[in-house]
Amino acid sequence: MTLTCTCHCGNVEITLPQLPETAVSCNCSICRRLGTWWTKYEKADVSIVFNQQPSVGYIWGDRCIEFQHCPICACVTHYTGTSNYPSTQVAINVRLLSLSEQQNIHIRHFDGADSWTFLDE
Ligand SMILES: [Zn+2]
Repeated sequence: MTLTCTCHCGNVEITLPQLPETAVSCNCSICRRLGTWWTKYEKADVSIVFNQQPSVGYIWGDRCIEFQHCPICACVTHYTGTSNYPSTQVAINVRLLSLSEQQNIHIRHFDGADSWTFLDE
């Protein structure tokens, strides 16, 4: 089973291999502002299509990860490691899924602001 999630305007279409069981809600300086829920997948298992315009990246701080957003509707869609921190994985903002798809995802709260641990452990 595959499923597709999109940004608000439909420019960015992301196809996932399966519904995530868990996603991470992080309270770090950027995630708390974005309101994202992150689930990581192997890049090879995910398809990311830009129907009109490519996504726009945002890198700051230690320049290890790059957040991507749609240039049309501004939804944050995914992040990847930069060349400073290469990874075979991509993190998808699973809040792009439909509400019915989101409702069975177990949300784990990560304290990225301070202790760098899961608060539910
Ligand atoms: Zn969009």
